[in-house]
Amino acid sequence: GIGVNALGYCDPEWSAAVAEQAGKIQHMCNYYYCPENTALAQELSQASGMAKAFFCNSGAEANECAVKIARKYGEKRGAYRIVTLENSFHGRTLTTLAATGQEGFHREFLPLTEGFLYAQAGDLAGIQALLDGSVCAVMLEMVQGEGGVIPMEESFVKGLEKLCREKDVLLLIDEVQTGIGRTGTFYAYQGYGVEPDVVTTAKGLAGGLPMGACLVSKSLGDILQPGENGSTFGGNPVACAGARVVVDRVSDPAFLKSVTEKGAYLKAKLEALPQVEYVRGKGLML
Ligand SMILES: *Cc1c(COP(=O)(O)O)cnc(C)c1O
Repeated sequence: GIGVNALGYCDPEWSAAVAEQAGKIQHMCNYYYCPENTALAQELSQASGMAKAFFCNSGAEANECAVKIARKYGEKRGAYRIVTLENSFHGRTLTTLAATGQEGFHREFLPLTEGFLYAQAGDLAGIQALLDGSVCAVMLEMVQGEGGVIPMEESFVKGLEKLCREKDVLLLIDEVQTGIGRTGTFYAYQGYGVEPDVVTTAKGLAGGLPMGACLVSKSLGDILQPGENGSTFGGNPVACAGARVVVDRVSDPAFLKSVTEKGAYLKAKLEALPQVEYVRGKGLML
């Protein structure tokens, strides 16, 4: 799968947890607290340093939630635009397609949701010029996945964080493909030493079951009030049972270290091959 089978093929601990939960309760109305998803929210917070989680079923939905949070954050001062990067990928719904900075995905589906501006990766001055008061957020991947496995420069990401703070613009990091240990830290931004306001995650999160989440920092913990976003299946207990095994195993520092080591080994061996020009990426996202 594309960044999905984080623990490999039918991992025994994962299979047992999923099967056990399916035999207990398979769905619970989201009006009530559910022990499986509150526990997962806690564990994800610990692994990521974020404060709260909204659960959904895919990466696109997680990004839709991030966009809604950003829009609400900027609403009172009329800031609704979101800057994303050229060559990015953020999903297939009409809003996340608009966020996706690749024209090839837009054609034939116009008009898309308005309010997205595109900048070039690495171009801090270009992004600064776009932050004219109408912008509420910047959204990017730490390693552009669908765009061709292109890691962001550390100086760019650090500079962007600083710029966002200065301009009171939210930093949204799309970790749908880079997250869950793939780059050698639980989330890739942790390897860059930045503190995002919103993080989206999906793909590998539940080890092969459909699940996404939008995580927010402490200061945004109350931005969405009950009823302002929702999902019938979001936080499904069976998916959560699988995700809890994934998060527990992958967030173990020894596991993450092994990702970095295996990635370095693979990179070195590939680079040594006569017909390989270079190898791009981070950790095992190569
Ligand atoms: C795959 C992907 C998405 C979309 O996730 P879906 O679960 O397919 O909706 C969003 N962002 C990134 C970076 C992705 O790689």
